[in-house]
Formats: sequence, structure tokens, C-alpha cells
Amino acid sequence: MSEVENKFSVKFWGVRGSIACPGPQTVRYGGNTSCIEMQIGGERIIFDGGTGLRVLGQKLLSEMPLEVNMFFTHSHWDHIQGFPFFVPAFIKGNRFNIYGAIAPNGSTIEQRLNDQMLHPNFPVPLQIMGANLKFCDLEIGEIVKIGDILVENALLNHPGEAVGYRVTWRGLSVAYITDTEHFPDRLDENVLWLSRDADLIIYDATYTDDEYHSKKTSKVGWGHSTWQEAVKIAQAANVKQLVIFHHDPLHTDEFMDQVSANTADVFPNSVVAKEGMVIELTPPEGK
Ligand SMILES: [Zn+2]
Ligand SMILES: [Zn+2]
Repeated sequence: MSEVENKFSVKFWGVRGSIACPGPQTVRYGGNTSCIEMQIGGERIIFDGGTGLRVLGQKLLSEMPLEVNMFFTHSHWDHIQGFPFFVPAFIKGNRFNIYGAIAPNGSTIEQRLNDQMLHPNFPVPLQIMGANLKFCDLEIGEIVKIGDILVENALLNHPGEAVGYRVTWRGLSVAYITDTEHFPDRLDENVLWLSRDADLIIYDATYTDDEYHSKKTSKVGWGHSTWQEAVKIAQAANVKQLVIFHHDPLHTDEFMDQVSANTADVFPNSVVAKEGMVIELTPPEGK
């Protein structure tokens, strides 16, 4: 088996929440919004289509024709705004299987990606995209099989709902859990379930506990979590490695350095997501 075929790699193309924030204060950690690429054996799975997806699209132009699976957590702007600028989707011969759960208002992921491209908000409609786009509505709890990869999902605690994912392949598990707010009185059982014994979890740590509980500018009810809660989940679920993700656009590089140091103090195998960062996992022997 070749080395590429036996690797599970995770690349971060966008690590911010809310809105893209390029500028001198976010150079090192990056300013693009949520987009993650996983290359698993010979398969490629993209999670979310924030502005990082535009940049990923430029790279993929040299690898066409493409057959790619895309999973959306939900359709807040910071998770879909890169899609209309994802050039490979405009090119005939490429194929995208696009998964998302139905929103509480009944709209499918196809409708929501379509709606953000309607006139007068965007110059061309989704129907102009020349690639073969196959939309798939996910049931909560459904398991999707892509070759020998399993993708599980569970509902997260977020205004308008979001879905967390867990990808398992040859004894490795990676969970992508963003846009979720922790509960005040207990650890979220869905988050624990997605994280169980995972090799890696990518968790929404938009705020610090101080910011979250701030008397003046409380973030309670905003749908996001903290790095301190990320550590609690990682410890309780026996997670090997923790990635802090979905950074607040106001958090500068210096601020993120501090979050990184504080998190590592209590959970040493942790890292703050940076644009362009790659984490490679190798399946355990015999898998
Ligand atoms: Zn978000
Ligand atoms: Zn959101």
C-alpha cells in the first residue's frame, strides 16, 4: 500500500468564526472562515464552505477532474460564503456530493446554497455551476459510508441548529464539532458521543471563559463555546489531541498565542488551528 493511501490528513483552510478578518493582526493564524479538507486514503472530504473554501478551490484546479464529498455543519454565512467562489464547482467534469441536514425551517442544504446566490445578492445563480452537484439531505444520526470511511453526525446546541461530524477510518477517528454552545450544568452528551476516544477533535472555542461570562458583554446564548470547555470534553471523552477552532474575529495573533499556551498548560496535546496547518494521522498497525 502506498504512503498516501494509508494516511489520514486534516488541513485547515479557514479557522475563523463569524466573518473573515484578514489584516495585520491575524496574519499568523489566518482570517478566512471555516473550511477543512480531509484526505483519507484516496478520498477527499471537505467540511464547510466558509471563505477558506475559495482558497482550497484554487489548489484543486490542478487536480481535476475531481470527485469530492462535502459536508456542511449549517448555513450561517461563515460556513457557506466561500461556495459561490469555489471555482471547481463551475467546471464540467468535476463531481461533488454535498451533504447537509434539513434546517429547522424545513429548507435543504441545496435550497440554502441556492438562496445565497440569488439576485441581487450574487451575479450568477447556482444553476450556472457546471460541475455535477449531487445534494444529499442527511438524517440526524445517519451514518454515511464513503468507501471504508464512516461519517457519523449528531445535533449541536446552536441557534438554528448545527451538526457535528465524526469520521472513522481504519481505527482512526476525527471529530469536527463547531458552532456549539456548552450546557451550564453538564457536558453535552452529543459532543461527548462524537468525541469518544477520538484521535483528534476540532472544537468550537470562540471565546475564553472570561469573555463568555463577562458581565458587560456576556456571550451566553450566542451558540459558541470556550477553550476551557474544549479541555473538559477532551478529558472526559478520552481524546488524544485537541484542536482549538472557530476563533473570534477580534482575537489577534498575540491573543491566540496566549490561548494556545493556556490550553496546552492543562491539555498538552492541543493546538490552536492556523490557516494552512496540516495534521497527519497514520492508522494503527494491522488496520
Ligand atoms: Zn460559525
Ligand atoms: Zn453558526
